[in-house]
Amino acid sequence: MACERSTQHDVIVIGGGPAGLAFARSLADSGLRIAIVERQPHDALADPAFDGREIALTHRSADILQKLGVWDRIDAAEIAPLRKAVVLNGSSPFALSFGGEREGADRLGHLVPNHLIRRALFQSIDGQTGLSLITGQAVTEVRTDADGAMVRLSDGTVLTGALLVAADSRFSDVRGRLGIGAEINRLGRSMMVVRVAHEGEHGGVATEWFEHGHTMAMLPLNGALSSAVLTLPAGEMDRLMRLDEAALGQELTRRYQARLGDMRVVSSPHVYPLATTYSHRFVTRRAALIGDAAVGMHPVTAHGFNFGLQGQATLAGLIAQAVAKGGDIAAPALLSRYEWTHRLATKPLYSATNLIVGLYTDERLPQRIVRHAALRAAARLPLLRGGVTRLLMQH
Ligand SMILES: Cc1cc2nc3c(=O)[nH]c(=O)nc-3n(C[C@H](O)[C@H](O)[C@H](O)COP(=O)(O)OP(=O)(O)OC[C@H]3O[C@@H](n4cnc5c(N)ncnc54)[C@H](O)[C@@H]3O)c2cc1C
Repeated sequence: MACERSTQHDVIVIGGGPAGLAFARSLADSGLRIAIVERQPHDALADPAFDGREIALTHRSADILQKLGVWDRIDAAEIAPLRKAVVLNGSSPFALSFGGEREGADRLGHLVPNHLIRRALFQSIDGQTGLSLITGQAVTEVRTDADGAMVRLSDGTVLTGALLVAADSRFSDVRGRLGIGAEINRLGRSMMVVRVAHEGEHGGVATEWFEHGHTMAMLPLNGALSSAVLTLPAGEMDRLMRLDEAALGQELTRRYQARLGDMRVVSSPHVYPLATTYSHRFVTRRAALIGDAAVGMHPVTAHGFNFGLQGQATLAGLIAQAVAKGGDIAAPALLSRYEWTHRLATKPLYSATNLIVGLYTDERLPQRIVRHAALRAAARLPLLRGGVTRLLMQH
């Protein structure tokens, strides 16, 4: 008869993505025994491949990463300043802009390649005292009760702990196993991200351009380089993915109306099907959801990981307080405090983003008129513009 292996921890984190790794790092000084379970192999975590995502980080997120000792592990030459953001609507010459108007701040935020954030996070937890990293394993069973949490892995190992934390993406399997439902909006569109070199200067300005039939953003990287972000109906995206590099460059140049001159593809393109998710609850008995497992934002407002960082910091802070007082790290009052703090921080922007995305991808005439009017109205409301800029900068 096979002998079942059982290991005891304080916190079991499922998912070694950016949110799970940041959370484990945040608890480094807590003295808690932490296990991270990640289904990808160890090497994919230690040295993640380029995935096309250039993550716009707020100042607050950069501060969190700095405090965690992660920021300085990212090559400074790979961090690009995001000085201003401009929203354009179709062929209208009118542009709504954010940033570039506050004194003392040279940038709205930073653009950092996702794989470098993940690599730096991995390096920061590698060898952390009390941390067990279990890779290449699937979760086959999850249970929590008043006394603790139990996780069974595909190789039969059983992990037990006081608290279970799900950080296993917006389609979180653990969330379902815990009996927590979620709002899931599958948008029927896909987003392509690819690096392009171009003749023109971007000036550190990110452009979001809502054109008939597609949405295109250009995110400024260091040098004459940008990340082209193209959103299309899923079927049309398949055609683009079959183009060779030269033809894809021409297609992107044409779609962007050569605003930055000729564009040449300089990285592999990556496609992400778009879906937004919001969990009905962020906690249940002895369990909490963090990162995309709690809130899966649309990438257009560039806040998914920013919220993920903020949420894990909130939960880790509450746990550290409980440890200091010798209290229960999964007490119902602690978990519900995390829940409402994070809900309050995320729900307004989540709802507003979904509304904007709906308005800007609906090609019926009344919606096109409304969005034109909405952009002009927003420009006339400096308080609103200032509010959005502050939200983006999060000083
Ligand atoms: C194109 C694009 C652009 C984006 N741009 C921005 C931006 O500019 N700014 C921003 O803030 N955010 C941005 N985001 C969002 C950001 O990438 C996500 O919010 C972030 O990756 C979420 O991290 P996470 O750790 O919660 O989840 P994930 O990154 O999805 O990681 C989940 C991890 O869990 C593992 N896993 C899953 N299931 C299991 C299981 N059952 N058992 C074990 N392990 C499991 C996975 O292998 C993975 O490693 C963007 C997203 C996309 C797609």
